[in-house]
Amino acid sequence: MFLVNYSSSSESEDEKSKEVDNSTIINELPKTQTNRILLPQASSLLGKHKLKSNDDDVTDDPSKHDGRIRSFKHERGNWATYVCIPVETNILEDIQDICLSHLEENFNFKTSSEMHISLTKTIVLQYHFIESFVETLKTALQSVESFTASLNNIKVYTNAERTRTFLALKVDDLYYEKMLNILHKVDKVMKDFKLATFYEDPSFHISILWCTGDNVSLVEALVPTIMESLMERLPLHLKFDKIYCKSGFKEYNFKLK
Ligand code: AMP
Repeated sequence: MFLVNYSSSSESEDEKSKEVDNSTIINELPKTQTNRILLPQASSLLGKHKLKSNDDDVTDDPSKHDGRIRSFKHERGNWATYVCIPVETNILEDIQDICLSHLEENFNFKTSSEMHISLTKTIVLQYHFIESFVETLKTALQSVESFTASLNNIKVYTNAERTRTFLALKVDDLYYEKMLNILHKVDKVMKDFKLATFYEDPSFHISILWCTGDNVSLVEALVPTIMESLMERLPLHLKFDKIYCKSGFKEYNFKLK
C-alpha cells in the first residue's frame, strides 16, 4: 500500500494565521465605569478576516465539479470529501464524443472531466478528522488487489435531488462482487466516522456526460441508438489499480496491490 498526499501544509498555516492572538487583545480590553471588563465583539476579534454577511458561504458552481451539486452549506472547517476509483479521461474521449453527438441537439449535455467510479457520496468531513479518516481508509484498503473490469453498457442516472442527469458507462455485473468488496471496506470506514454510507443498491459506473434537470426517461429512450453506435468501442476494459480520496483541496491516492 502506497499513500501519496499531494496536499501542501499551507492550509494549516493559513488556518493558524486566522487565529487571533488573544493575549494582546486582553491587555487592551476597555473597562466600564464599574471596572468590569467589556468583552470585545466577536467580529472585532477577526481583524482583517472580518466576516462579511455569509462569508462562509461559497457560491456553488456545478460546472466546476461535473454537475455534482453541494446539498450542504459550505462552512469553514467542513470539507467536501469523496472516495472513488479514478479513471483515465483520454481513454473515454471517443465514447464521450459519440454519445454527445446523439444528445447535443436536444439537451445541454457537457462532458465530465474528472472521470471516476464513486465509492462514497460527497460527504462533509471536519478538518481535524481528515488525517485519521485517510489513515483508516489506507489501512482498510491495504489488502485490496488491482483488477481489470469490463464495461459494456450505457445507463442513465440522476442525483438524489433529481436536478442533474448523468449518462454513464456501467461496470459489468461480472465485477459486481469485486466492487462490492471494495465498497464494504470503504463503507465500514464511513460508519466508523459516523458518515453516510453509499447507496444500498450501489450501481458502479463512470459518468461521462451530464446535464441539468431530470431528463432520465427522455435520455433512456435514446440509449439503444447510442449503444448501436458504440458497438465497435465496447466492451471497454479498464484496470482499477488505485483509489482516490479528495477532501477539500487535499488529494490522496492509494495504490492497490
Ligand atoms: P457519479 O458520477 O458517481 O457522481 O454519479 C452520478 C449520479 O448517480 C450521482 O448523483 C448519484 O447520486 C447517482 N446515483 C443514483 N443512483 C445510484 C446508485 N444506485 N449507485 C450509484 N450512484 C447512483
